[in-house]
Formats: sequence, C-alpha cells, structure tokens
Amino acid sequence: MAGWIEKLSRVDRPRLGDQVPVLVFRAFRIFTEEYLEDLVGSKGTLTLLTNAGRLLGKEVGSLLKDASLEKYLEKVVEFVRENKIGLLVPEEVEKDHMLLRLDECITCSGLPVLGKRICHFEAGFVGGIVEAFTGRRVRVYETKCNAAGEGTCEVKVELNNHAAHNATGQKRS
Ligand SMILES: [Zn+2]
Repeated sequence: MAGWIEKLSRVDRPRLGDQVPVLVFRAFRIFTEEYLEDLVGSKGTLTLLTNAGRLLGKEVGSLLKDASLEKYLEKVVEFVRENKIGLLVPEEVEKDHMLLRLDECITCSGLPVLGKRICHFEAGFVGGIVEAFTGRRVRVYETKCNAAGEGTCEVKVELNNHAAHNATGQKRS
C-alpha cells in the first residue's frame, strides 16, 4: 500500500473542499463492517478490518518514523489529533506490551451501547504504527470501546507474540 497516502491526499473538490462530517465517515465505516459481518462472520470481519487498519498504520508509521520511540509516539499522537481521528493517550509503554487509549474516537465516541466492540480497524491501525517502529509483527486488539459501553476506546498491543522480522538490535528508548 506504499504511496497510497500521497495519492489519496490529492483532492480535487474546488466547491466542496476536503472536509466531511464525522457521520459520513462513520456511515461508510460501519455499513462496510456490518455487511462484512453478514458476509464472513464476526471473526472474519475482525481479521479483515484489523489487518486493513494495520496496513494503514504501517504506511502512516513509515511517514512519521523517528529513531526514538518517545518522539515517534509524540508524532503519532499529534497526527491522530490533527486529523481528528481521536485523542490518543499512550497509557502503558512496556517492552512486551503497550496500552493506548483513544478518547473521542472517530468511529465510536458517543454511540449508543451496541453490546460489542467495533473499532477493529482503529486497533489494527495502532498495531501497524507499532510495527512500523519495531519491524515486528504484533498482536493487537481492542480492550475497550464506547460501543460496548466501556466509556472510551482502548487498544492493547502485544509485542512478543510473532516475529516476522528479526528486530534484534532495534534501538528502543
Ligand atoms: Zn473506537
């Protein structure tokens, strides 16, 4: 998916501009998700959306790349805020796992309780962001979601599960 961000950023809408209401984003996002659930079930949907988000996270992560994890996460937080995806708060940043909260999540904040977590794409995005830094495949999943009545959106990243690339010597700070 390399190069897609640049391609997609070329918006030619002289009368309508480059902004859309959150409702429109949510409609595209959730109608796709609900249809996927009908088509391939909830496990398939989880995998598809998480991995699609992961690809986007890796692409964005490669654009924000920094040698220092602390600086990198600062840039990511800024990117997420600037693009109004949400307010990302790294709660725990450890060698083997990370826990990140996404307040005011673009997809779920303010939704009525639907009885399920729905931000798989966003969780995958966070996973991809981490993968872009570590060069390693991570396990990632939502641990809280407004749609499940949990008050915010939260993502857990497990760093030691899969090793797609050997990241030995990767500088961590
Ligand atoms: Zn969410």
